Amino acid sequence: SAHTIESAITPQTKAIVIVHFAGLISPDIFAIATLCKQRHITLIEDCSHAHGAIAIDSKGKSHKAGSIGDIAVFSFYSTKILTCGEGGMIVCKNKDFAFTCRSLANRGLKPYEEQEQFITLGSNYRLPEFSAIMGLSGLAALESQLAYRQKLSLAYKQYLHTFIKNKTISPQAIPSGFRHSFWRFIIFLHKHSPDNIIKYLKSYHIYADAPYKPLLHKQPLLANHPLVSYVPSTQPTIENHISLPIHMGIKLKDVRFITSKLKEAFNE
Ligand SMILES: *Cc1c(COP(=O)(O)O)cnc(C)c1O
Repeated sequence: SAHTIESAITPQTKAIVIVHFAGLISPDIFAIATLCKQRHITLIEDCSHAHGAIAIDSKGKSHKAGSIGDIAVFSFYSTKILTCGEGGMIVCKNKDFAFTCRSLANRGLKPYEEQEQFITLGSNYRLPEFSAIMGLSGLAALESQLAYRQKLSLAYKQYLHTFIKNKTISPQAIPSGFRHSFWRFIIFLHKHSPDNIIKYLKSYHIYADAPYKPLLHKQPLLANHPLVSYVPSTQPTIENHISLPIHMGIKLKDVRFITSKLKEAFNE
């Protein structure tokens, strides 16, 4: 939340990266954007889960993921909603920053110049044209894909209704009018251990998963880093979630099967 972020800001803070987790734009995103503006901190949206997701501000205006912060990044890796196989995209509001990105991506050349002028220490981060063709056809199919994922998510919630009601689990809370991309369908487990549930489902060849473990601050690169700290209150949330299968290859009858096995796992 904006409050948690505010308490973590120090005079050294230059930028804040926010991940629209599982495809839901952070419900607090507008408060976070305001906070960043007041403190002159760059807000970077990581939209790798959130292609096509929408947030509604307090005036009822809708904003697509990637249009709220100063900079946004999208991944087009093969597991994402919109994919080019590999690659990604940076979008930003600042022209100078865009100019620098173009140069860095293209061996440090000055963009839009006929004559070669190297102005930065760039590399080759160009998206191949063949990949871009794949991305464009994915873009054309994005709306129908989002609608299908939405339909699967509603089926999950309907079949799991009793467990949501008696607080065995809870889905992500989606503010009214927001569009979740449902790159992943997350449930938070309040009475069971994720490992046991995942194991039970796996015995029926259902691959649920609990991503982002161990957390970043426990990874070898950062575990003992003097500048790394974390917010302890985030730990239970992260440690108690699983994601259920959701993609274009899943049918409504699969959701019914998966949820029936999940019910067995809860009742064991
Ligand atoms: C996939 C993903 C990335 C990495 O994307 P690449 O295309 O591999 O660079 C970064 N952040 C999040 C949240 C992701 O899901």
